[in-house]
Amino acid sequence: MIIQESKHDFDVAILGNGLSGSLLATILGKQGVSVALIDADQHPRFAVGESTIPHTSLVVSLLAEKYGLPELEHLVDTDGLAKHVCATCGLKRHFGYVYHRLGQTYDPKEGLQFGTAARDENHWFRQDTDAYLHNLAVHYGAIPRQKTKVTGIEINKQGVKLHTSAGEEIRARYLVDGTGHKSLVAERFGLRQNPTRLKHHSRTLFTHMVDVPPFDEANNPLPISYHKGTLHHCFERGWFWVIPFNNNPLSTNPLISVGLTIDPRRYPKPDMSAEQEFNEFLKLYPSVAEQFKDAKAVRPWVSTGRLQYSSKQTVGHRYCLMSHASGFVDPLFSRGMFNTVEIIYALLDPLLEALKTDNFDDEAFIPVDQQQQRILDYNDDLVNCSFISWDDFDLWNAWLRVFGLGTFLAEFHLMNGMSDYTRTGDPSYLVGKTQNPVFCDFEDPDYAAFFKDSVEAVEAFEAGRMTSADTTKRVFDMAGQYPFPVPIRKDALVRAHWMKEEDQLTERDLGFVRRGFRWALTTPLTRDLVSSSATFFRWCAHRPDPHLCLESDSHSRDLKTPQGWDERKERGPSPCSRAVRSSSPVAPPSTTDPGPAVQASTR
Ligand SMILES: Cc1cc2nc3c(=O)[nH]c(=O)nc-3n(C[C@H](O)[C@H](O)[C@H](O)COP(=O)(O)OP(=O)(O)OC[C@H]3O[C@@H](n4cnc5c(N)ncnc54)[C@H](O)[C@@H]3O)c2cc1C
Repeated sequence: MIIQESKHDFDVAILGNGLSGSLLATILGKQGVSVALIDADQHPRFAVGESTIPHTSLVVSLLAEKYGLPELEHLVDTDGLAKHVCATCGLKRHFGYVYHRLGQTYDPKEGLQFGTAARDENHWFRQDTDAYLHNLAVHYGAIPRQKTKVTGIEINKQGVKLHTSAGEEIRARYLVDGTGHKSLVAERFGLRQNPTRLKHHSRTLFTHMVDVPPFDEANNPLPISYHKGTLHHCFERGWFWVIPFNNNPLSTNPLISVGLTIDPRRYPKPDMSAEQEFNEFLKLYPSVAEQFKDAKAVRPWVSTGRLQYSSKQTVGHRYCLMSHASGFVDPLFSRGMFNTVEIIYALLDPLLEALKTDNFDDEAFIPVDQQQQRILDYNDDLVNCSFISWDDFDLWNAWLRVFGLGTFLAEFHLMNGMSDYTRTGDPSYLVGKTQNPVFCDFEDPDYAAFFKDSVEAVEAFEAGRMTSADTTKRVFDMAGQYPFPVPIRKDALVRAHWMKEEDQLTERDLGFVRRGFRWALTTPLTRDLVSSSATFFRWCAHRPDPHLCLESDSHSRDLKTPQGWDERKERGPSPCSRAVRSSSPVAPPSTTDPGPAVQASTR
């Protein structure tokens, strides 16, 4: 049907008032754009997807600065969250990965912790954070339509027309779809790839629970309690998540988000309730069962079919799908909300320009589509290879470095760009320099090649063309030969609120940090990648984690105690920093790089 009207009720109509819809509506409203914000449900309401990563927080912080919205900064600051948003969110000090073998108690040597940042990341209690954003959007002028179903969508050269269950006709110049996996626009225009191009297969069961205690607190050899972060219990072709909301002294929320994600080809959906199925999995993994022995769900379990979906096209004439409406892979690595905010960031410039010039030609929006497709494919490889690698702990240990090298380096580059932008106001610093990136133009320029070669190796293992030992060695060899710089700068750490201006950090310290980081990220000899000042001493001396040196067993075959190693324990509270603990300058024992203390091989 042709729409002839030249006037529109709104500049932008947004479907879905969740994280993506409400965040975008807030920014557009602040820019003076008129927005209709429509949702079939109403706040507060449950939403899954709770764990942030530094990249998520950096982009939210950048949006706050670029668009003059200090209220967004509250979302990424643990204290600010409790003070200004809600006292129901947890904190995330690390990604904790514990490896489990069928029927066996877990081996503490097979637990890994990757630090998040000196600034804690968060476990957003989405019903509250989404409501906060929705209310903020309305504050900045968005017109809310909650409990409103959209019954018809028409788009043509002149504009967009929506029909609602309330009998209203909403006209707009542009349409954004933030309705998630059931995307109205994807359905209306037949955008889904069916079958999906994605390689990975998983389905999930999840709920919120009480009475889930910290995991194996007494035996954890790593520096931070597993309860202070997002805990992943990994096993062959599956993983459990444990995301506490009660681990922050400022939180009054007793809940823990719990989920189980499994490959349906290995574990087809049985004829039983989700809760029963969850309990059946607990029986297979005694250490996980121990953590859940008193746990009780406070809301009905959700059990999904295959999680993966993708779209042929994610932007079109006068419309754009938000990230979660475009496609999804798996919650592992907590990238969903990061992808959501980076797509909002990518869409804003072309959309504001189109609204100004009234030119909605597709061309300006094509890079947004390219970015969406790229990140989906990257997430697909990242998670697919993780599931493959869970056949063997050493291979998983190797693969996690491939993830770390992409994520950490990109975050440092972005932090540097943000610092330069804050200092100069020059937006060109907000464009990464990497040509043909595999996921983000702030990633290290050589990461794409390293990533692709690593994927190839892991897939060769899956196909039976390589052994797991050879694949592990290959990935670590490639990591060792990959000449990435660690682009840490003090001004950038300060801009990202990872440290304070007055904290001491000399260029010499930074040199050690960079070299220590390089070693830690490319060696199989450390499970503690949290990087407190204490770990930097160890990394600079190329020493493995103390608990890996205590004895020789099947899982630490060739790990030898380095000469002079004092087996000091480094437990206790550690305000971790991936870069450096801000209040204590790094002062390594010697000014020369001591070289490897042990052979970097687990075989
Ligand atoms: C199991 C699971 C776990 C996840 N865990 C994480 C994690 O730990 N970290 C992370 O970063 N990301 C995670 N994600 C991804 C994260 O959930 C999404 O990135 C995020 O929720 C996207 O926000 P959104 O607002 O686009 O969509 P949603 O949060 O899905 O919101 C969609 C909105 O659209 C509304 N809506 C739906 N249909 C209609 C309709 N027909 N008409 C009108 N309104 C409609 C809904 O009511 C809702 O308000 C996870 C995803 C899944 C599936």
